Amino acid sequence: MRVLLVEDDLLLGKATRKGLETRGYAVDWIRDGVSAEAAIAAHDYEAILLDLGLPRQDGLTVLAKLRKRGSSVPVLVITARDEVADKVGGLDLGADDFIVKPFDLDELAARIRASIRRANHRPQSHLVHGTLDVDPASRTVTMNGTTIPLTAHQFALLVQLLEARGQVLSKARLEESLYGWGEEIESNTVEVYIHHLRRKLGKELIKTIHGAGYIIEAGPDGH
Ligand code: CA
Repeated sequence: MRVLLVEDDLLLGKATRKGLETRGYAVDWIRDGVSAEAAIAAHDYEAILLDLGLPRQDGLTVLAKLRKRGSSVPVLVITARDEVADKVGGLDLGADDFIVKPFDLDELAARIRASIRRANHRPQSHLVHGTLDVDPASRTVTMNGTTIPLTAHQFALLVQLLEARGQVLSKARLEESLYGWGEEIESNTVEVYIHHLRRKLGKELIKTIHGAGYIIEAGPDGH
């Protein structure tokens, strides 16, 4: 669950990054519009938090270019109270949601989850797969009604695979979703997490596609 935070205000950026990291997100933090564009081109993000007033290139331009390239990544625009005109412009350009400064971090995290859900056409907040029930809000996992304790990274990996049910995700893609820039990654990290997930949730859930990556197959209802 890797997100891009584009915010030039140091205090707000720092607090937002920290708040999202404690809620299980890997966060890349960028402070100008040109670097934001480069980061978006280079990485896959689950969501982008975009301030509008930015140095070098404003947020609406970043958003317009992103949608022009055909990207459907959820974008949450961070606005000040008096930016109503920008809000209208942002909606027209393909923003998914708005959050007004100063914002509550729990609310921000909930809005990010909702945007990701909508992007994946999933109306319900829980991810349910057979007897497995995952609640991204409380970060709890139950199987046959029994709570299964997972570490933050194991949980993030499981959610990533469930959100992409029916698609093979490469090891590199999964690594990207777990770590922000500058974080140390052990070369076998993903394999280790998959091993732990299989031990806790059964061998059948996550399949290895040799040379390609990992998959949780879609259920009979397509989910
Ligand atoms: Ca700003």
